[in-house]
Amino acid sequence: MKIAVLTSGGDAPGMNAAIRAVVRAGTVYKHEIFGIKDGYAGLIKDDMIHLTSNSVSGMLSLGGTFLGTARSAEFLDENVRKVAAENLKNRGIDALIVIGGDGTYRGAMEFSRLGVKIIGLPGTIDNDIAGTDFTIGFSTAVETIVDAIDKLRDTSTSHQRCSIVETMGRRCGDLALFAGICGGAEFIITPENPMEKELMFKRLTEHKEKGRRHAIVVITEKILDPHALAEEITEKTGFASRATVLGYIQRGGSPCPEDRILGSRMGTYAVELLNDGIYGVCVGVRDSRMVHLPFANVVGQTRPKNELYKLVKKVS
Ligand code: ATP
Repeated sequence: MKIAVLTSGGDAPGMNAAIRAVVRAGTVYKHEIFGIKDGYAGLIKDDMIHLTSNSVSGMLSLGGTFLGTARSAEFLDENVRKVAAENLKNRGIDALIVIGGDGTYRGAMEFSRLGVKIIGLPGTIDNDIAGTDFTIGFSTAVETIVDAIDKLRDTSTSHQRCSIVETMGRRCGDLALFAGICGGAEFIITPENPMEKELMFKRLTEHKEKGRRHAIVVITEKILDPHALAEEITEKTGFASRATVLGYIQRGGSPCPEDRILGSRMGTYAVELLNDGIYGVCVGVRDSRMVHLPFANVVGQTRPKNELYKLVKKVS
């Protein structure tokens, strides 16, 4: 087969591991592999390169995606998608593997209606894809956030301050949840775990009165203005507070072992699905095992509330 691979949406550490696995496994099964530049934008422009085992040498430890990624408004237009499908046809490409988030999956689902055989891999730091326990990039981003929390705790302790740490995640609080637990946060505020403001003020006031020298509040982005919350905490509790918005730093860095393994497993599994004539599905990991589900069962679905929330009230 001729198989093309692209990365789309926000980049995530471990995307390179997944591309590398597609190329290496594909080569083992004697397929020809093409890398499409900059996601769906490159597909529309027919911007692709031939990938060999050698082209992915040294990619495992690299953050980001060496193929580049983009958000392409043009791809929402069916006529443009028809041009993209024609590009694949003209090159004799039999199947496409897309690595990205929910939007990328939506695009893949629309594109597959034109007869293109597609497999999706969940590549996003947000861990917001249904049908998988973990997405590629999530574990590395958690490590980055925990590292930041540990550092903020040092300076908060020195100054007897409360640190508000804003993470990415949009509608999914997993980044804040996992990093908050690992970083020993006093409060974790996410879309799934809304803030109980008065309780938080009361507890922080008690901490302060008991002589606790630091407090950490981790909050998912887009819930509220973290700087305004810091001012409110300072005013209401006497605990001087500062907000840190971690931003894009969470997307970068060399992938941690979990993401290298996840990317490698998922990339290989995608090629094996195509070998078995299976497509129109996205790959996931459930209870440590590789699984696949039709796009329609995953796109737009919310994940069940994480079991770890049970821990939050007990350990924070
Ligand atoms: P992240 O979770 O990191 O933001 P994502 O894959 O969700 O990643 P999006 O920007 O939402 O990122 O989607 C990636 C691309 O998928 C879009 O830029 C667009 O090209 C394509 N796409 C999204 N939704 C659709 C759709 N309904 N029809 C066609 N293409 C779509």
